[in-house]
Amino acid sequence: MSYYEIYAVKFSGPFLSSGAFVMWMKDWETVCERNYYFWCLKSPDRTILVDAGVSPQLARDRTLPDYVSPARILEGIDVDFNEIGHVILTHLHWDHVDGITLFPHAKTYVQRAEHDFWLYDEMALRSPFTFFLNEHTRNTLKVCEGDGRMILIDGDQQILPGIECLLAPGHSVALQAVAVNTRQGTAILGSDCAHLFRNYEEEWPSALIIDMVAWVHSLDKLKNRASLPELLFPGHDPLMTIKYNEVVPGITRLV
Ligand SMILES: [Zn+2]
Repeated sequence: MSYYEIYAVKFSGPFLSSGAFVMWMKDWETVCERNYYFWCLKSPDRTILVDAGVSPQLARDRTLPDYVSPARILEGIDVDFNEIGHVILTHLHWDHVDGITLFPHAKTYVQRAEHDFWLYDEMALRSPFTFFLNEHTRNTLKVCEGDGRMILIDGDQQILPGIECLLAPGHSVALQAVAVNTRQGTAILGSDCAHLFRNYEEEWPSALIIDMVAWVHSLDKLKNRASLPELLFPGHDPLMTIKYNEVVPGITRLV
C-alpha cells in the first residue's frame, strides 16, 4: 500500500476581491483573500503533482503578485522538476495548467470531457470562457498533447497506487478531484470544486460555477469520499498556507 504526504505549494498571492467572488451572492461588502496553489504528493516510491501552476511568461503577462516559478519553489522540498513523471490536471483553467511546460518529462492526466471542451469545442472560444483559458495556454496544451504526454480519463479511475481521479463537475465541464491514500485515511484534493474550506463547511459555492446541479452532486460525492471532513481540501484558500506547518517558504504540509 502506498501512503502519500501532501504538500500545498503557493506560487502566487494573495489576491483581494469582494467576498462574493468566493461565496456566491453573499458577502458583497467584505474583502476576501485567495492564493494560487498546486499540490505535491510524495511517497517513498514517487512524486506526483496535482496541477502545474503558471509559467513565468504568463505570470509576467498577468502581473501575478509574489509569483515564484513552480519548478523553482519545488527545490525547497528536494523535488527536481526534470524528474516529475506525473501531473494530474484537475481542470483546464489557466491558473492550474499553464505551467505544464515546466515539467517536460511528465505524463499529464485529464478528464476526456474537460480536454475535448477546452481544446476542441468552439463554445470554449466564446467570451465567458476566455476568462478561464486563453489562446497561449490552449496552444501550450496542444503541444503537450502532440508530444503524447496527455492521458485522457473517463470518469473515476485509479491511475497509480493510492491515487484515484474522481469526476466532480460544476466549476468546470469535467473537473476531477484527486483521492489520495494517506496515513490519516483518504484525503481529497478537490481543487476548485471549492475555493475555500468554507464552501464545503457551509455547502455554498463560489461565484465560479457553470453547472450548479452538477456542483451539488460533486459536493456530496467529495464529502463522502474523504475519510474525515478535515481531509477535504479546497483550491485557493489562504488557510492552506496559514493553518499548516510551513516546510519552506510557500510550501506547507497538509497531511
Ligand atoms: Zn483556480
